[in-house]
Amino acid sequence: MKTTPSSSPSSDCLFCRIVSGDIPANRIYEDELCIGFPDINPQAPIHMLIIPKRHIASAANAVADDNGLLGSLMAAASAIARNEKLSKGYRIVVNTGDDGGQTVNHLHLHLLGGRRMTWPPG
Ligand code: AMP
Ligand code: ZN
Repeated sequence: MKTTPSSSPSSDCLFCRIVSGDIPANRIYEDELCIGFPDINPQAPIHMLIIPKRHIASAANAVADDNGLLGSLMAAASAIARNEKLSKGYRIVVNTGDDGGQTVNHLHLHLLGGRRMTWPPG
């Protein structure tokens, strides 16, 4: 079976440490595969991060076996957006790699809402 590269949990990984409870976060969402919590440096009135409990370094490391997990992340973002009453819309961002502006190497979705977004992004 094909396995995801860089899929080992790491005590060096900030988001793995949040999943384990080693670093505190306000879990506004949790299911068997993922958790959601507020970004520590919000870029919009609502700014949540949705992460898989299993370590995947980035979207660039995802493979077909991760399809269920990737779908769950999107469904979690959608559920959080409904819960946060973002009926006027929102943005989901997945920064990937250096050029993508990724700073934490554990796959995460940013859910941004509560203000009008601009395009193109910086
Ligand atoms: P990225 O730049 O796309 O890799 O996003 C990483 C995000 O993690 C940034 O928006 C940070 O503000 C956020 N962040 C870093 N440390 C924490 C933390 N301890 N709790 C919540 N969010 C964090
Ligand atoms: Zn991790």
